[in-house]
Amino acid sequence: MIIFMIIGSVVGLLFHRIIANQEIEIKNSYEHIITGYPNSHKLKCDVHNLIDDKKDITLVAFKILNFDQINIYVNYEIGKKSVLEVLKILAELFDKKNIYSLNADEMVVMMCECNVETACLQAKKFLDLLDQPIFIDGLPICLTVHCGIINFPLHSNDENDLFVKLRRILGQEEFTKNQISIYDRSVTEKNKENYETVIALYDAIEHDKFTLVYQPKINLHSNEVMGVEALLRWNSCIKGEMNVAEFIKIAEDSGIITEITNWVIRNTINQLKTWQEEGVKTKVAVNISSMDLKNDSIVEYTKNCLELNHINPTLLEFELTERSIIENDKGDLLNKIKDLGVTISLDDFGTGYNSLLHLINFPIDYIKIDKVFIDEIKEVYNSPLIECIIHTVHALGKKVIAEGVETEKQLLTLKKMGCDNIQGYYYSRPLPPEKIKDFILNFNI
Ligand code: C2E
Ligand code: MG
Ligand code: MG
Repeated sequence: MIIFMIIGSVVGLLFHRIIANQEIEIKNSYEHIITGYPNSHKLKCDVHNLIDDKKDITLVAFKILNFDQINIYVNYEIGKKSVLEVLKILAELFDKKNIYSLNADEMVVMMCECNVETACLQAKKFLDLLDQPIFIDGLPICLTVHCGIINFPLHSNDENDLFVKLRRILGQEEFTKNQISIYDRSVTEKNKENYETVIALYDAIEHDKFTLVYQPKINLHSNEVMGVEALLRWNSCIKGEMNVAEFIKIAEDSGIITEITNWVIRNTINQLKTWQEEGVKTKVAVNISSMDLKNDSIVEYTKNCLELNHINPTLLEFELTERSIIENDKGDLLNKIKDLGVTISLDDFGTGYNSLLHLINFPIDYIKIDKVFIDEIKEVYNSPLIECIIHTVHALGKKVIAEGVETEKQLLTLKKMGCDNIQGYYYSRPLPPEKIKDFILNFNI
């Protein structure tokens, strides 16, 4: 009996040891030997499981291109510490549990149900952090890191093929000088171009590469400049001066628009401050996108910028379109904007829903009649439709601005019909800050 008990205990102990060893082995086989992060084997298992669950996966791969040089010319220990530091920075931007080490100089972030544009933006943020040298044991180490992005099922709908392609984008020859390359064998040229534009837009926000021009709005009753509209301009290093409506659309699709709008708000308020110091009195309107109304953060952001620069909120105006108001059903948000003291204009009126009901339901101060209506005033000094809009808007206690006025005939017709304000090439094209300042100071003297 005792012998059996001893044998039983020994067998139990051995069994326990074997299980424990197996667990260590499994753990080891899932971990990268140098970094301790999950390795390529674990990545393959995780990707496999997610594909089984019919998930969309974006793999963002980074490679330190000068890792070998650091090992050779500095030393291996510094090389290893550099990799660990890079992983630490990566973990500040991405969820740590989604970071994998393939080779010591290659790491992958697995992003589930995340579109390629968002992955691009995060990757760009990470690469920007590595623009500066990192310090290892007091030594400044400059790393050249490139990034490749691939999506399942967009770029490959086969698990094995996905990893073949991942390997290919990690091959140095696949990297472009743009630092981020998206696997592009199956994406259209247009998509690729849009990705590049998104990355360049992000860079433009970070490094203040946008400019603003201002177009005056004239009050026909007092014959004074009642304000100016801030219009964005971008001279992209890839494509030169880009059409604003075109890049705004790409920014909206990729979700980067909110950061652009914040840039415009911030810079407009700074400009207001400069003008105030120079004795130029004017109000500025900023175009707000539909996406900016998805949450209320725009109110807090604007409030902070205004307070920081000691600018009276009544000097700021937001131009919103009917579409953005209706799509977001944002009556509450509009009230918050109004409570802040910022004026609201309904832009491009007539091109969207054309519902005068919105004028009653929402706290709108001005209606901007779109250029398409103004273009109709060609032959006769008459336009019953515009006249009707003007009367209705007035009856509701709001004011009208006519957009895109180019000729004297249009101006006189609108004046006769009781239009309050005019904006268009007839008075001035959009101008840079210094020129608009002269325009305002010299108007009607
Ligand atoms: P919008 O807000 O309706 O701005 C008026 C557009 O009409 C401007 O074009 C302006 O230059 C143009 N315009 C003004 N008067 C005349 C005229 O007499 N004749 C003609 N042919 N055009 C005139 P722009 O600057 O190209 O902007 C186009 C659109 O892009 C804007 O339309 C606005 O929707 C959008 N946009 C511009 N800047 C921004 C911005 O900072 N943020 C956002 N979200 N959108 C912006
Ligand atoms: Mg506008
Ligand atoms: Mg407009």
